Amino acid sequence: MAQISDILVIGGGVAGLSAAAALAEHAKVMVLEAEEQVGFHSSGRSAALLHYALGNPPVRRLTLASREFFERPPQELGDVELSSTLPILTPARPDELPRLQELADDLSPFTGIEWLDEEGLRRECPLLRVGGDDAVRGFIDRTALKLDGHALLQAYLHLLRMNGGDVRTNSSSTGGRRWGVPLLAKAAVAAGADGIFLEFHPDPDRALCDGPSCLPLAEAGPLLATLKALHAAVRAA
Ligand SMILES: Cc1cc2nc3c(=O)[nH]c(=O)nc-3n(C[C@H](O)[C@H](O)[C@H](O)COP(=O)(O)OP(=O)(O)OC[C@H]3O[C@@H](n4cnc5c(N)ncnc54)[C@H](O)[C@@H]3O)c2cc1C
Repeated sequence: MAQISDILVIGGGVAGLSAAAALAEHAKVMVLEAEEQVGFHSSGRSAALLHYALGNPPVRRLTLASREFFERPPQELGDVELSSTLPILTPARPDELPRLQELADDLSPFTGIEWLDEEGLRRECPLLRVGGDDAVRGFIDRTALKLDGHALLQAYLHLLRMNGGDVRTNSSSTGGRRWGVPLLAKAAVAAGADGIFLEFHPDPDRALCDGPSCLPLAEAGPLLATLKALHAAVRAA
């Protein structure tokens, strides 16, 4: 029997599922996921850290704003624990000290960091090579959070279904067709995209991961030149 939805959300990663779960309060929502299961790509592979060193200042502000959500998940997600604290150590070699200071300055509006000398680095991470040309200074952020990505996806899936929405997964993925990669990249740039994520490998058929979606490295130069020219033409139009 045909099903009618008000809103179709393409992609069952954390972005799609969270948006769909919220939208499902107000409309009939269906998530279409190309893979056999949700969270198959980035969301299922993420290191899932809430850490202010990631991203640029707007991303850091979003990270700060979402902290409470992860520490005290809203009731409607059910009885779920989404995070636990995980200290993050940032060590630096002598030549990296100016950038370490820059990062510390960038992070100071968001979190309190604790500076470490060589002894402190050894204490916090005995495996680290310390001294000389190796790590000589660093800082630790004890407020970072390790997120439970699986629990998060399942909570949104649950909320989506509680709100009357649904997910359709399918094994007919668009991935794995190498010939389509340049075509899709050019189409995306022609449609206005400013960035493209592509994977290259010296010998894609022997790649240990994602080979069918990789392009031969030798094709990188010509393809990127075409994409740049296309981008410039679109911007000039
Ligand atoms: C190795 C790694 C480590 C990371 N570590 C961190 C971290 O520590 N902290 C942090 O904040 N972020 C981290 N990230 C980034 C974070 O994981 C991503 O930003 C986030 O998961 C993106 O979610 P998404 O829903 O946008 O994308 P995805 O999870 O990739 O979901 C997109 C979904 O859309 C589906 N799809 C694509 N095309 C179609 C189509 N045509 N039809 C139907 N479905 C389609 C895909 O199959 C996929 O399931 C990391 C990412 C990676 C890969």
